[in-house]
Amino acid sequence: MKHSNGCYISSFICIASLTLLFACSKGDKDLKDPAPIPNAQESMTNYLVHQGFDRQHIVFDKDRVVIDGDIIIGMNDLKQRTADWEAEQRSGVPATEQKRGPYLISNAYNNNVKFYIDPGVPPVWVTAIQGAVANWNSVNGTRLRLSIVNNLASANTRVFMGYENSNWIARAYLPASDNKPGVTVEINSKYNTLSATQQLFAITHEFGHTVGFYHTDQATGTQIPGTPLTDPNSVMNSTVLPWNGFTAGDIKATQVLYPL
Ligand SMILES: [Zn+2]
Repeated sequence: MKHSNGCYISSFICIASLTLLFACSKGDKDLKDPAPIPNAQESMTNYLVHQGFDRQHIVFDKDRVVIDGDIIIGMNDLKQRTADWEAEQRSGVPATEQKRGPYLISNAYNNNVKFYIDPGVPPVWVTAIQGAVANWNSVNGTRLRLSIVNNLASANTRVFMGYENSNWIARAYLPASDNKPGVTVEINSKYNTLSATQQLFAITHEFGHTVGFYHTDQATGTQIPGTPLTDPNSVMNSTVLPWNGFTAGDIKATQVLYPL
């Protein structure tokens, strides 16, 4: 969830330093082997580009990758997805594309996605989180339901505060190949004084990522059936708006992905 369009110059610095780390951690085997070191990061980037993400908006960050500013995929999960995709390429079986993440959350979780709010989350954001849960729970014709739980052990998704002097308001993990909800939502405390209505939009948007939605306004994957090609007020657009309810497209998409 972006506050405004930002620049991604820092991504190039991260990629350079991470390539160095990979090269340094390869060990003796590669020193004896004159063959080029396979560039794992390049493979993962190619996979993400194939998924429809913009190469310039892919930032490798330690054990995860951040895409379009606020969509997070864990590195282990990304490695697995890339390996699966490469195996598909080799086997000649066409890869499927969808305008959503490759993984949704299974029926074991999607009728009660449990969010835990870290004690450090200030009241303004707690209000936004409660509002976002209520927003998603107001969508009819879907089995998707969310709740807030009081202990981390029973939660699917932890919501916590971070800080970065950057233009992301909050960012969230997508569901992984285990078909569980995205594991965290991180809120940028830089935006603690954002208007309440924009905070509500932002958290509703991030919760959308945790259940598998990509960005409506970006060319990732293929269209969810029955949703419009462009939807300027969609909660899953990448730039924050004042909260004004879900669009018909948002509702349709939720009903299609998580039918009753
Ligand atoms: Zn987003």
